[in-house]
Amino acid sequence: MQSPRTRVLLEAMNTAPVAPSSEEQKGRAAEEIFGQDVFGLSAMRKRLPRDVYRNLERIIHNGERLDAAMADVVASAMKEWAMERGATHYTHWFHPMTGLTAEKHDAFLTPAGDGQVISEFSGKMLISGEPDASSFPSGGLRSTFEARGYTAWDPSAPAFVIAQPYGATLHIPTYFYSYSGEALDRKIPLQRSIAALSRQALRILRLFGNTTATFVRPNVGPEQEYFLVDKGLAALRPDLLLTGRTLLGAPSPKGQEMEDHYFGAIPERVMSFMQDVEIALLKLGIPAKTRHNEVAPGQFELAPVFEDANMACDHNMLCMNMMRHLAPRHGFLCLLHEKPFVGVNGSGKHNNWSISDSEGNNLLNPGATPQDNAQFLVFLAAVLRAVHKHASALRLGTVGAGNDHRLGANEAPPAILSVYLGDQLAEVLEALVNGGRAAQGREHVLEIGVSTLPPLPVDLSDRNRTSPFAFTGNKFEFRAVGSSQSVAPVNIVLNAVVACALDDIATDLEASTSAGTPLNAALQELLPRLFREHMPVVFNGNGYAASWTQEAARRGLPNDRDSVAALEHYSEPAVMDIFLRCGILSEREMLSRQEILLENYGKTLCIEARVMSDMIRSSVLPAGREAQRRAAETLLKTREVLGPETAQCEEAFFVSLRSQVTALAAGVEALEAVLASVAATEGVLAQARAARDGILPAMQACREHADALERMVDDELWTLPKYAELLWVN
Ligand code: ADP
Ligand code: MG
Repeated sequence: MQSPRTRVLLEAMNTAPVAPSSEEQKGRAAEEIFGQDVFGLSAMRKRLPRDVYRNLERIIHNGERLDAAMADVVASAMKEWAMERGATHYTHWFHPMTGLTAEKHDAFLTPAGDGQVISEFSGKMLISGEPDASSFPSGGLRSTFEARGYTAWDPSAPAFVIAQPYGATLHIPTYFYSYSGEALDRKIPLQRSIAALSRQALRILRLFGNTTATFVRPNVGPEQEYFLVDKGLAALRPDLLLTGRTLLGAPSPKGQEMEDHYFGAIPERVMSFMQDVEIALLKLGIPAKTRHNEVAPGQFELAPVFEDANMACDHNMLCMNMMRHLAPRHGFLCLLHEKPFVGVNGSGKHNNWSISDSEGNNLLNPGATPQDNAQFLVFLAAVLRAVHKHASALRLGTVGAGNDHRLGANEAPPAILSVYLGDQLAEVLEALVNGGRAAQGREHVLEIGVSTLPPLPVDLSDRNRTSPFAFTGNKFEFRAVGSSQSVAPVNIVLNAVVACALDDIATDLEASTSAGTPLNAALQELLPRLFREHMPVVFNGNGYAASWTQEAARRGLPNDRDSVAALEHYSEPAVMDIFLRCGILSEREMLSRQEILLENYGKTLCIEARVMSDMIRSSVLPAGREAQRRAAETLLKTREVLGPETAQCEEAFFVSLRSQVTALAAGVEALEAVLASVAATEGVLAQARAARDGILPAMQACREHADALERMVDDELWTLPKYAELLWVN
């Protein structure tokens, strides 16, 4: 008889690729379907009265709220548009602190009083909602008497319809806040950080004589890595289903060492999945552009074209939702976890970040004229200052139990924040700092506002893959974000710390210029001083090298290796001040976030420990004991037939098998004891620390014995799909 594992394996090998959901869409050009399910500006222009449209456009640009009368007109047009696309329901779509998105669907129908129903969607229903917030994490922001949460439409993010074969729903992107007006989501602080960055960056532009730019905004291009494993095989792995990663598993005899998967030919079934996801994303106006195999077997990447930070964040959440949702149609489980498999690369999310003004100029682009160069150097100095001075805050944008398996391991950037600038740019800065003498002793006087920068290579990105924060020609690539994480937190902090640095610089320059110093002279004094102060954060070497850890410590750069250590800094005055100063988060909002994140860390580890203990008790130990019984039988039989001296080999095997089984049985007992003590620990910080210091090592000890057993136990007794099967069958 075939074991379930063998049967599923054969089925997996024979799973045929599925055609994209809608046959006729297979060959349709992107420009035909792009944005077809979005109620964006062009749909609004077609459907709204001229004056309403003009008003709305202004409101969207200025981030204002809609008045009730106008909301009714917009809502009615939106409903009509959505119903034409088959929508029967609408939902306020928001980003609670769960790290996922949330939606509660309401039908458009309303009883008409005569036994019939009519469809209704008023302005009030569009602009505000009141979902029951009591089950979302609030970190103490909500006591029972004020359990309500409110949603409010974010008109700068257009509504969209998600159409499924079984029904379509109108999604309205919303903010989510408490009765007392505090943010319960990630969109509110993100928008506040975007506004703060804009205010401070405009001060710099004004100093340079720019009177026309009306706003500055951050742009974000998140590269999304993920794994696909066969759904049938995953169904036999409770760890994958419940935690998103393998808690047990001996390494595959073949991993990523041949480097044959990266950029390799995309398997057909994977291709059909990618195609399906891309079509879904294009319809939602998400510019999915790049797809390829990643380094590890079974690992892939999807990258969209960059957009403004608010849209990029909404779109990345939708992208992850779509990937998770569409994978089963193709017989896959999509793993967004940062480290699904030990021994091969984990998944990250490179957050490409730049800032541009309302006229479309990228402020991180070294310019063609001396004055543009000077302005570029100011923004560059601000970023260096931000990353150097506020590293502890920036580290908060990447915390999460999953990402801890990645940061600091030899594949992802270390938890130490440093900036890679490339040799040419670093040399320019050295020259500035040293009053004109470049590294090789060449005379190289850079007079700010007078001389131009030497030409820089356009794309520096491939020069250094080990840096967490790399300048790649006209943007920074922050590589420490985890694949499953929302990009909101990291961009909130990034915008905040750069806003603070720009504020410092603008204040300094404004003081000088209003005292009569010409701008260029003020810059010639300020920039070398700033670059000298913040040069320690620049590191162009190998971030994976052990020597870097020591060197970084010598330079005074913090190294918070795990999320708990990083989160402890959240409530420090220097960190809180960043968010308070720019009006991004209040003290209560920050403390609640710290609590939620610590709690989430502890809960994640407890769940993993419980799943591991179940798997060991229900699958691994029974297989080990049965193998032990068989080994004993073989040993006795061999002794009987051939005599005791000739059964040494059988005896050694039996002894070693038995010692692994015994050690694993003891290990799982110990793990359960630790789990109980963590559960009994009071206080979120103490609990998170106890989980980190107790559960992680206890799980590691169990895993060593379980993985050793996997390699000793008869294959037919092993019920859990093995690494080779999970990684290579797609
Ligand atoms: P790689 O890092 O693999 O070389 P690319 O250069 O193609 O990748 O860019 C990766 C991501 O960076 C894409 O999402 C792209 O749209 C985005 N990106 C490109 N230019 C900018 C920019 N100015 N600001 C923000 N993101 C950008
Ligand atoms: Mg990249």
